[in-house]
Amino acid sequence: MELKKGIGVSTGVVIGPALLLDNDEIRIGRRAITLAEVAAEQQRLRTALTAASDDLRDLRERTRRNLGKEMAAIFDFHLALLNDPQLQAAFSQGIERDSHSAEFAVRRALREYGKHFTEHPDAYFRERVKDIYDLERRLLQHLMGAGKIRLEPTDQPVVIVAHDLTPSQTASLDKSKVRGIAIEAGGRTSHTAILANSLGIPAVVGLDSLTREVTTGDVLVVNGYSGVVIIDPDAATIEEHQKYEQRQVRYRTQLDSMRHLPARTKDGVDIKLFGNIEFPHEVDTALAKGAMGIGLYRTEFLYLAGGHEPTEEDHYAAYCRVLQCMGQRPVVIRTLDLGADKYSPFQDQVPEANPFLGFRSIRLCLGNLRIFKTQLRAILRASTRGDLRLMFPLISTPLELRQAKMVLKDTMEELDEQNIPYNPHLRVGMMVEVPSTALLPKPYVRDCDFLSIGTNDLIQYTLAVDRGNQRVASLYSAANPAVLRLIKNVIWSARSRRRAISLCGEMGGDPDFTLLLVGLGLRQFSVAPQHIPEIKKVIRSMNARHARQVAQRALGFEHTQQVMGFLREETRKILPDIFSEVPAKPVTATV
Ligand code: PEP
Ligand code: MG
Repeated sequence: MELKKGIGVSTGVVIGPALLLDNDEIRIGRRAITLAEVAAEQQRLRTALTAASDDLRDLRERTRRNLGKEMAAIFDFHLALLNDPQLQAAFSQGIERDSHSAEFAVRRALREYGKHFTEHPDAYFRERVKDIYDLERRLLQHLMGAGKIRLEPTDQPVVIVAHDLTPSQTASLDKSKVRGIAIEAGGRTSHTAILANSLGIPAVVGLDSLTREVTTGDVLVVNGYSGVVIIDPDAATIEEHQKYEQRQVRYRTQLDSMRHLPARTKDGVDIKLFGNIEFPHEVDTALAKGAMGIGLYRTEFLYLAGGHEPTEEDHYAAYCRVLQCMGQRPVVIRTLDLGADKYSPFQDQVPEANPFLGFRSIRLCLGNLRIFKTQLRAILRASTRGDLRLMFPLISTPLELRQAKMVLKDTMEELDEQNIPYNPHLRVGMMVEVPSTALLPKPYVRDCDFLSIGTNDLIQYTLAVDRGNQRVASLYSAANPAVLRLIKNVIWSARSRRRAISLCGEMGGDPDFTLLLVGLGLRQFSVAPQHIPEIKKVIRSMNARHARQVAQRALGFEHTQQVMGFLREETRKILPDIFSEVPAKPVTATV
């Protein structure tokens, strides 16, 4: 039995046999063909190209139906590659000029092509190499007669183990056959993580050397909450996890039944629970979990998942869809937060030594007014369709906020000139995710209709810890006393001016912090939809008066571990089953 620690990116616990995806290369001999064989090889190539194209269209359509348009757009890139005339000419030349078999010509041309991406300074392009390999595998399998990629050779549900999964592999997984995913590569925002989440398949990524230690058939426990994978668990561990899983299902079903109940403390304080989404289709889950609104729509995923730069109409259609589903409920649309770890092929990304401190987010938008205004026009147009609110990310100075608002005003004037309607009273807010704004929130509170604390970034900037780097993960904690001070400062400053204040970082979805945040005066949370019921349960079990005492005491500690231990203990007191159902997480696993 061996325990491995990675990053849990899609919640749930599963136990099942591993299916190790064979990432071995398909072996291809370098056979020279004769002149007489050229025509036949060209025909084989054409047949394979058509079959691969049919596959991809089919996959795109199925993905669109099951996961929505944005996810399906991943395959537009594959189709664009496949239809690239230069690439097709290179395949053909390999056969005709170099006397290569169709297989060898395809591999050589795609490897050559992939090299440009591997060496690209932009991380987004380097990532795309996976798509090129995916396309290569698909073409080779058609050429060699293996047909469609099959991930499910057994009729028993499996846990997929691989170094990495390409987007098309992940999207083609059959949920009834795949119980879990455990992979070596990836981070929280990788395509695989996003897709696993949307599919509702428990997943852990960042599991160092897993494929060397697991073989097909090994039993695995995948804990998508804690990010732990256990290889060959003993009978007692299996039983323990089976029971744990059953309890989880019972517990979550019971929590979901609270969907219509208010998030009200025992002493009558109402809390608003909103959902965070990345794609329009997630609105359904948010509503099913009882979200009162969308508190953070991360619109940059329109760029990251699509095969082309989104047009004003693409933006508009996505926003209208969300607003329509949400009815009269508020929807906070965050303007593009590209850059740092979120690259898009449509941005001019000059390599940066410290991209998290660089030309990202609102800075990138203010430096690319065409992109920014395209989005703002769509947001403004959609603002007549529901309770839309606009939020700027990563503001770090009052001037930056003023500039962003000026661009918004310009865009409004352009719409006025064109007689295009929009809501002139649109509420405008910003994220507080940089220590400079959390330390001195006054000018932002004055100039915004609302603020939302982005703890994911605020923690990394306050503690100088990269939020995506496993090697420093133990230093990353929302329970750090300095972080708590900043959060308190922002909440108090906003409340003193009667400004709406929310928190939309992952911290808000962790029940260990609910007492503290309510105690600090937070009355609005925006969390990943699957966390809403649990947070509601904690709220309904607490007294706001007790929460205030907890917050006061927590602010007095000097060490992260003291804060964490105290918060867990207090939460356990009001809600013992949270801790019996979900095993305590190590401090390193908390957000
Ligand atoms: C945050 O930084 O807390 C946040 C919500 O934004 P993102 O996770 O998209 O950076
Ligand atoms: Mg952020």
